[in-house]
Amino acid sequence: MGFLAGKRALIVGVASPRSIAWGIAEAMFEQGAEMAYTYQNDRLLTRVQKIADQTNSKIVIPCDVASDEDIDNVFVKLKEHWDSYDILIHSVGFAPREQLDGDYMDVITREGFQIAHDISSYSFAALGKAGLPMMEGRDASMLTLTYMGSVRAMPSYNVLGLAKASLEANMRYMAQSLGPRGIRVNAISAGPIKTLAAAGIPQFRKMMTHVEGTAPLRRSITPREVGDVAAFLCSDLASGVTGETTFVDAGYNILGMAELASN
Ligand code: NAD
Repeated sequence: MGFLAGKRALIVGVASPRSIAWGIAEAMFEQGAEMAYTYQNDRLLTRVQKIADQTNSKIVIPCDVASDEDIDNVFVKLKEHWDSYDILIHSVGFAPREQLDGDYMDVITREGFQIAHDISSYSFAALGKAGLPMMEGRDASMLTLTYMGSVRAMPSYNVLGLAKASLEANMRYMAQSLGPRGIRVNAISAGPIKTLAAAGIPQFRKMMTHVEGTAPLRRSITPREVGDVAAFLCSDLASGVTGETTFVDAGYNILGMAELASN
């Protein structure tokens, strides 16, 4: 029996088999969780349906997190299948493309700032809050995905770095607010992985190559490696962990300087 047996997980953020959310879904299903999914729009439905089929799930619900109505509807629909649930995975990030294409001070705008923060940060609290009544009285947990661009300046990551800093603070405030009800809230800070979202970051390939050459493990990481840590953090094995950002990045974040080549 897996360590998530008896738990029900809602996954928000599958877009392709390369999605981090896909790796999380596979890992959680393997550990015995029952699964449910949302999809952003009709273009992504077939792909999300595929992971739902693969994980024996009949629950696939539309949700654009920019819409309060969509967010509320997720839990109306979920309630038709489950009376309660245990795990919320928020694997959603977005900034308008032009915000990521160029120098930060050249491209930052009020609108770009607002959209990045709304979709990438606020939506975590909004989803968590809308589904809260279904989590009451269980050892439930919520998990979001962040990136080191929140705490270090990175080329091209620009306003997404600010939105991830907001998301991490959001996660800590959610943890403080929900802890007394026994609900844990955590984040995973993943190293670079080639996904659809990553394709929107112009210097992404160079970032990957740099990480693969310098991270202590001398490689990048996979969605499944993130998934395994997510499964652990959302399980009762991690019952004492909340408000934490856990790095899954082949150790890159610990470096002060890459090793110097010997002459
Ligand atoms: P992905 O493109 O597979 O997933 C991004 C998801 O965000 C998609 O499913 C997309 O539908 C969803 N999304 C965007 N706007 C939305 C909206 N308005 N409503 C509903 N859903 C919306 O890419 P990914 O890399 O798996 O990204 C998942 C998370 O992981 C993001 O928060 C991303 O910032 C974070 N992350 C990614 C990396 C990386 O290198 N790929 C590294 C660290 C953190």
